[in-house]
Amino acid sequence: MDAFVKLQDIAIHMGLEPAEEVPHRPGLTAAPPAAVSPQIAPCGEPLTPHRLSTKKEALGIQEAVRPGGQPIRLLKTLLTSACERNCYYCPFRAGRNYRRHTFQPEEMAQTFMDMHRAGVVNGLFLSSGIIKGGVTTQDKLLDTAVILRQKHGFRGFLHLKIMPGAEREQVRQAMTLADRLSVNLEAPNDQRLQTLAPKKEFMRELLQPLRWVDEIRRTEPGQLGWHGRWPSTVTQFVVGGAAESDLELLTTTEFLHKQLQLRRVYFSAFSPVVDTPMENHPAENPLRQHRLYQTAFLFRDYGFDLEELAFNQKGNLPLEVDPKLAWARTNLQENPVEVNRAAPEELLRVPGIGPKSAQTIVTARRRGKLRDEKDLQQLGIATKRMKPFVLLDGQRPSYQLPLWEE
Ligand code: SF4
Repeated sequence: MDAFVKLQDIAIHMGLEPAEEVPHRPGLTAAPPAAVSPQIAPCGEPLTPHRLSTKKEALGIQEAVRPGGQPIRLLKTLLTSACERNCYYCPFRAGRNYRRHTFQPEEMAQTFMDMHRAGVVNGLFLSSGIIKGGVTTQDKLLDTAVILRQKHGFRGFLHLKIMPGAEREQVRQAMTLADRLSVNLEAPNDQRLQTLAPKKEFMRELLQPLRWVDEIRRTEPGQLGWHGRWPSTVTQFVVGGAAESDLELLTTTEFLHKQLQLRRVYFSAFSPVVDTPMENHPAENPLRQHRLYQTAFLFRDYGFDLEELAFNQKGNLPLEVDPKLAWARTNLQENPVEVNRAAPEELLRVPGIGPKSAQTIVTARRRGKLRDEKDLQQLGIATKRMKPFVLLDGQRPSYQLPLWEE
């Protein structure tokens, strides 16, 4: 069968697979840019034809942003859309009735390189359904990567999936070939995973490969990695599919960021797929996904710990308020931060101050005191959100309480 027909059939189910960041397109979402990660789902959900609006999208090509910020045209696809496992949420699960396709490694590498040489794509996100076990499937992914790097001399961006149950040596080899690796944990612990994917083992099959990546990164020199550095790692959780709480999700998220150095945790609000055991399970509120992203960034970029956050009795974050704003109302409203003296890590705790603006403030105040709001605005820093929580040269800036939550 023609390779492009196969890619098109696979792409119908791949649109929501997490890969790299997608550029923010105003109007597509009400969420602020910090939370505009790819709309995601486990292995994707069927997209209606009008959403695959261009020929490129129909083949699985996505405009994305590389780790580091460069734009990239990414082919997101699978070596095979057949799978012997039966995850309850997944369109590729065994026994679901639709047309499956398989690429051999040589065929996939050649198809991608044809598209690359034609200037259509410059990066590849390659995953796979599982056939003959995770180890055999991982070998095929690795074979494809070796052909791309060694036979075709491809030096562009490659994101490889690590299959459940892959062996340590396979993980290590993937680290020498890819720019990014991902293992989808899907759930925060084994108990919740059984609700979603009864044939997956959380600790042995999913978490262990991420532990190996971390161990190899710590014990072997980065020059052994592709481009002289080890690849970054990411994962994904399905949110709202297993009755899991935010506390469970964020406990594991904090561990992944702080102990295993994951670059990114993706949260995918559950969305039911027809003709799966979970087709009648309600879709999750996207606002919950948004709050989880905001909190994960607090762990990764802002120095927050899990125990500093407020959860309700069910272990969930309040949906109606940004978690950083909620923390600041409790901790800073009566004890505002003096912008001229605060340490960078204290500045980062203030709503409206991110890593870049904290650094700008630290640099600017070496030249002289920041006396009022205008001094900050002249530095390009928006002041609206920070005003209730700071002092400028000993004075609180004037502010009005918002009429509604932001
Ligand atoms: S292992 Fe599970 S999530 Fe992955 S493709 Fe197969 S059924 Fe889907």
